[in-house]
Amino acid sequence: MKKIQMVDLKSQYEKIKDTVNASIQEVLDTNTYINGPEVQKFQKNLEEYLGVKHVIPCANGTDALQIAMMGLGLKPGDEVITADFTFAATVETIALLQLTPVLVDVDMYNMNIDIDALRKAITPKTKAIIPVHLFGRATNMEAIMHIANEHNLLVIEDNAQAIGANCKFSDGSKRKAGTIGHVGATSFFPSKNLGCYGDGGAIFTNDDALAHTLRGIANHGMYERYHHDVVGVNSRLDSIQAAVLNVKLPMLDQYGKARQDAARKYSLAFEGHKNIVAPSICDICDCHVFHQYTLRIIGADRNGLMQHLLDKGIPCAIYYPIPLHLQKAYLDVRYKEEDFPVTNQLVKEVLSLPMHTELDDEQIKFITDSVLEFLG
Ligand SMILES: *Cc1c(COP(=O)(O)O)cnc(C)c1O
Repeated sequence: MKKIQMVDLKSQYEKIKDTVNASIQEVLDTNTYINGPEVQKFQKNLEEYLGVKHVIPCANGTDALQIAMMGLGLKPGDEVITADFTFAATVETIALLQLTPVLVDVDMYNMNIDIDALRKAITPKTKAIIPVHLFGRATNMEAIMHIANEHNLLVIEDNAQAIGANCKFSDGSKRKAGTIGHVGATSFFPSKNLGCYGDGGAIFTNDDALAHTLRGIANHGMYERYHHDVVGVNSRLDSIQAAVLNVKLPMLDQYGKARQDAARKYSLAFEGHKNIVAPSICDICDCHVFHQYTLRIIGADRNGLMQHLLDKGIPCAIYYPIPLHLQKAYLDVRYKEEDFPVTNQLVKEVLSLPMHTELDDEQIKFITDSVLEFLG
């Protein structure tokens, strides 16, 4: 059996090696390392893929979130609501801009921001919401946009983990996650669903004026060469990374299917087990692209299971072990433990299994057999 990896980038690369190498070679041959034609091509292709008017490439997903908030004109003291159960980059950028993060609990079923908790957290100071499409599952954007419209709030989608996923609406329509709020932000970190071979990110919007503002902020606040109209940052997607992404973007749907196939096989093996809550898989809407395959282990020794898998050479991980409201950097006297029952429970129960585009049946069987062997 091939060695099991949490994310097997090497096996994926082997299959696209010639095209990727040629695409990178082109950048080397033309010496267009910054803002080369590859970047423009990628921008256009991603706009088309997502069905969004503007894609603004930048240096990483964290910058994408920061630039989005800068472009929306949020001011120190403005409250920004986001999920307690996510990667820290979301809350970090809020705090960095001296905005006030307001963490709220998540939903037990989809692990995304809880709609009632979100509603309750709104105050007269609330200016924006950052929903996160966690682990690849599109969150309920229809409900979030409804609340945002009611209260005149801005919505920044953190789509670092769910590029390609569809959000469903009650009229039957579907739109790509990240393109529904006022702005969307994503990451091309190597292990993300659309990963390059270094750091990369992008911002999406359908608003022409905002797109113009965001482009300038990402480029030192310059709208005309050497005229700095606003305080900006330096955040670019390298041409070499765009060259990799130009090869991988056309594969994204196929990669998503491979992840969903692996998830389906895992879930089939775990079906009905009393100690396992497996993520649900919808066959028609692609609302979950499985950035992670995350189980809840209930009434059993989650940490023991994790050690058992590691001992057998199966990588696995706890995303995330500590709720953000308990992180030293983000403590706030306003938070009460009873406001976070779901996150507090999830951090004790979640376990993410290997998930990538190259898992084969033998590996999946070994992983599921090993989980079931421990749980009995
Ligand atoms: C990865 C990630 C980010 C940050 O992306 P980087 O490119 O690593 O800066 C932000 N939010 C979430 C939810 C992420 O998973």
